Amino acid sequence: MRKTLMSMLLAGAFGVSAVAQAGPVTDKMITDDAKSTGDVLTWGMGNNGQRYSPLTKINTGNVKNLTPVWAFSFGGEKQRGQESQPVVHDGVMFVTGSYSRLFAIDAKSGKELWKYEHRLPDGIMPCCDVINRGAALYDNLVIFGTLDAQLVALDQKTGKVVWKEKLDDFQAGYSYTAAPMIVKGMVVTGVSGGEFGIVGRVDARDAKTGKLVWTRPVIEGHMGYKDGKENGVTGTTNATWPGDLWKTGGGATWLGGTYDSRTNLIYMGTGNPAPWNSHLRPGDNLYSCSTVAIDADTGKIVWHYQTTPNDGWDFDGVNEFVTYTTKDGRILGGKADRNGFFFVIDAKDGKLQNAFPFVKKITWATGFDLATGKPKFVAANRPGDPTKGADGKKGEVVFSAPSFLGGKNQMPMAFSPDTGLFYVPANEWGMEIWNEPITYKKGAAYLGAGFTIKTLDAKDIGGDYIGALRAVDPATGKIVWENRNNAPLWGGVMTTKGGLVFYGTPEGYLKALDAKSGKELWKFQTGSGVVAPPITWEQDGEQYVAVVSGWGGAVPLWGGDVAKKVNYLNQGGMVWVFKLHKG
Ligand code: CA
Ligand code: CA
Repeated sequence: MRKTLMSMLLAGAFGVSAVAQAGPVTDKMITDDAKSTGDVLTWGMGNNGQRYSPLTKINTGNVKNLTPVWAFSFGGEKQRGQESQPVVHDGVMFVTGSYSRLFAIDAKSGKELWKYEHRLPDGIMPCCDVINRGAALYDNLVIFGTLDAQLVALDQKTGKVVWKEKLDDFQAGYSYTAAPMIVKGMVVTGVSGGEFGIVGRVDARDAKTGKLVWTRPVIEGHMGYKDGKENGVTGTTNATWPGDLWKTGGGATWLGGTYDSRTNLIYMGTGNPAPWNSHLRPGDNLYSCSTVAIDADTGKIVWHYQTTPNDGWDFDGVNEFVTYTTKDGRILGGKADRNGFFFVIDAKDGKLQNAFPFVKKITWATGFDLATGKPKFVAANRPGDPTKGADGKKGEVVFSAPSFLGGKNQMPMAFSPDTGLFYVPANEWGMEIWNEPITYKKGAAYLGAGFTIKTLDAKDIGGDYIGALRAVDPATGKIVWENRNNAPLWGGVMTTKGGLVFYGTPEGYLKALDAKSGKELWKFQTGSGVVAPPITWEQDGEQYVAVVSGWGGAVPLWGGDVAKKVNYLNQGGMVWVFKLHKG
């Protein structure tokens, strides 16, 4: 009680406090998360997803002294891809592991407090490894999604289940891997399963009880609901989809979203339209491969921007929309899309401000028309119509860059208000892709396409590498610096007021670079590939950095020639925590 009172007094005296805020997690604490250095309450280190910390104790001058404090193993034989961002509250770290597990750990000592292992049924259908990206905190609860498409809320202190809700039918291909987001007392989630003909949507539930408040499908023709009543159809039925294909139209909202309290909009990315064979569905296929902005109160779409209309390459538009404020006070959002282009969009009205490549080789379009917001397609580089193939069973094979694994995939970027730069984990790769006939069958893969991921010629991209951490200026479209990496980058990024950029590599390193120059200042070998975003917080006057290590995810499963190139990488499942060594 005394501690809580002291925290409140300090918070009152100095604005948002560095002191860990004890007790139940409130909406105000969520809103202030990006500024409060004593905790990390949200995926994105703030709901707008900037992954920026105002901490300066670890900085360009002393980061070379960063040393491990503790490491924690997820244990068992379930050492698969670990894409989780931990959250930290009141001295406890909550981190999810592969196979829908959640661990509560003493953030100072690394001692396990409790663990929850979700009982998974046979027949789950995760597309891209048995990963999980993290948990949400609200009130006395820690909430996360599972591979069998459930949402589970546990008591932070005991790990006991407080409520459990079914998101959807896992036997129809639904699953959940993203970290939920808390907005105004609601827990906001999407759905995974875009390769199985599911229908993407956004759900908002009462975070304390799990009761559904509203649901908004992101494919045109489907009805939304609020408080148990109809709340309007999404878009206009059959306006951009032919026949009945919208009924199994994909648009999986599998990476979750961001939220900006100033616009009151939830920004959710949507995946590929289903099936992959675009010749079956002439039209834009709204709102697939888009960012949709949903009013948090009404559950209605306020604006949308489609990054790949009539997608034929699996360029899921799920990537995080990260809002920031320009020098003249405008609220814009940045999005590094799987299709290889970086988009700058007005966060209030969705109007395109800029679109430019952040990878070196793009074959499907030559650029974007900023007036209409539409891509300039290269028609010859769309995978061919199988009905026009020689035997009617395979369309013309095309070479496409980026590959469907994207110029960027699930690994979240960071934005620094100090430098004005986005730090984007980019990949240079291509694929051979072709279309095949397909019909929808519940619970079966619904692609109508085949593919092989390929490396690109060194002469096309200026060297022999796949990954590149790139500092991107959203105002000019210029890449200010880059740090290349042999393997494809698959972890997220964090930046700090200490002038640093942190990110991990599949080769096992957590690295710290100078945010202005890209110069590598520190690295540490974690023993397995890092495919998760780092975090930082402050406890008892010291700054900590943490990252999860454990190679896996989509690359080893679907990476074709690239998977073979990196098949020497070891699996794992650890949390690593660092602070400055006192010499
Ligand atoms: Ca915080
Ligand atoms: Ca997809």
